[in-house]
Amino acid sequence: MTKIKGRCLCGAISFEVANTFEKLFMCSCDQCRQITGSAFASNLFVSIEEFDWLKGADDVVNYQLPGRDISKSFCRVCGSGVPWSSDDGTKMIVPAGSLSEPAIVAERVRIFTSEQPSWASNLEQVPAHAEFPKLR
Ligand SMILES: [Zn+2]
Ligand SMILES: [Zn+2]
Repeated sequence: MTKIKGRCLCGAISFEVANTFEKLFMCSCDQCRQITGSAFASNLFVSIEEFDWLKGADDVVNYQLPGRDISKSFCRVCGSGVPWSSDDGTKMIVPAGSLSEPAIVAERVRIFTSEQPSWASNLEQVPAHAEFPKLR
């Protein structure tokens, strides 16, 4: 089975995971907006046996929202989102943006679009630039 690597921005943490993802969930709920500081969280789920830390497992910090099945792991050095385990310990939840190579995903699903902020709607109508635009 092909494996791909992922890492945090500063490189303190890296991991390896089997590149066979059933689903990518793009979640626009209020908690994911807060936790990412962005429009939605993009999370892949894999069985825990298909995941290994390569470096920096001690630099992973986990935050658990009290009373809720919501958590977030991040690098203590650079704050990048990194994978964390599900409450029942059977799966790893991998932020898609933490992967360094293209992920093979069978299905993409958007969830909690009812809580999507208005500034993140109709993105196909927003001017797009290949790189940072020239400021006038
Ligand atoms: Zn880092
Ligand atoms: Zn969410």
